[in-house]
Amino acid sequence: MATFPDYKDIYVFVEQKDSQPAEVGYELINKARELVDASPELGYKVVGVLLGENVKDKAADVIAHGADKVIVVDDPKLKDYSTQFYTDALTQVIDEFKPSSLLTGATVLGRDLAPRVAARINAGLTADATGIEIGKDVTLGGGAAKREIPNDDALLLVTRPTFGGNLFGTIVCPNTRPQMATIRPKVFDMAKPDASREGEVVEFAPKWAETEPVVVVEDVEPKKVAGVDITKCDVLVGVGRGAEGSLALAEELAALLGGEVAGTRAAVEDGFLPKERQVGQTGKTVRPNLYIACGISGAVQHVAGMEKSDYIIAINRDPEAEIFKIANQGYVGTCEQVLPLLIEDIKKIKEAK
Ligand SMILES: Cc1cc2nc3c(=O)[nH]c(=O)nc-3n(C[C@H](O)[C@H](O)[C@H](O)COP(=O)(O)OP(=O)(O)OC[C@H]3O[C@@H](n4cnc5c(N)ncnc54)[C@H](O)[C@@H]3O)c2cc1C
Repeated sequence: MATFPDYKDIYVFVEQKDSQPAEVGYELINKARELVDASPELGYKVVGVLLGENVKDKAADVIAHGADKVIVVDDPKLKDYSTQFYTDALTQVIDEFKPSSLLTGATVLGRDLAPRVAARINAGLTADATGIEIGKDVTLGGGAAKREIPNDDALLLVTRPTFGGNLFGTIVCPNTRPQMATIRPKVFDMAKPDASREGEVVEFAPKWAETEPVVVVEDVEPKKVAGVDITKCDVLVGVGRGAEGSLALAEELAALLGGEVAGTRAAVEDGFLPKERQVGQTGKTVRPNLYIACGISGAVQHVAGMEKSDYIIAINRDPEAEIFKIANQGYVGTCEQVLPLLIEDIKKIKEAK
């Protein structure tokens, strides 16, 4: 049975654009910190991997967000994202430093890079995950195939939606290292940066292949962002099928609270909510301070995208609706009844100030 004494530490690929690390990298660093701190017997470190041009001075920021060590590959070839050069660099980092696990954001870039790297090094990859843990006393299989995984193998248990999003499965990659996963942005909290944290910065120079790149980035055009970015909002009023008749009230409530309207896939499919405002498994993951779910049933695929909101208020005419199970506060009634009362109360409170 394979064991992996040479492989250690949890590595996080810290994606950056224009030398600015993306938040998802810091969210993953924070989660890796939590896992490593909860398993001191492993003696693992949290290691950030920064690839790019002129990124070295960002290493301190990665450490401030929770890393013990940062491996920096600073090279003009890595200025803009290129599948080939990034794959070349990251696989060489893995070969040299031998991580036990490697986490990447499930972003457009991460979803391109991680599978290339996994295929190149023949490692297992769990894509689009929503949770990770380090397994303790894990037994796999049964009968003749039964296999106990030693705790010092630091088996990564990776959760992701499966079977059309109706179930969550836990996937393990016990036979190869590193154990790779891409994880959705906003699933984990980002730590407040602590500038007093100290860590090691290691510069690494990959050997570039002599072959000409197959794809060359000639120009990068900034994306034109249409509408609002609901992942950045502090307050969201979520609308579901049951709020179709009270959309104007939901918009008024959102405006009063300085927030925006978001909602379910059903609302998008019914044509009263733009797709870019869809929350959930096939939409966006959001974590506002306040999420007011109006006429939303609470299907797992929706809940997966908003359950980490700090405070959830649900309005639904059905007292048995699933959404009440995750709500901090609930109103049983129609949106047409409840929303005007909420709006009136908030206006009164605002006027009294
Ligand atoms: C692979 C897959 C991916 C999916 N991805 C997503 C996703 O990313 N996001 C997502 O949201 N869904 C997703 N879905 C769909 C999901 O399963 C649900 O169908 C959807 O979330 C239901 O939306 P809803 O709650 O608005 O509608 P419904 O399930 O129709 O619920 C409407 C609710 O409103 C209540 N209601 C009705 N009238 C009123 C009223 N006047 N006042 C108050 N309450 C009222 C009802 O009691 C009910 O609870 C996905 C499904 C699959 C299979």
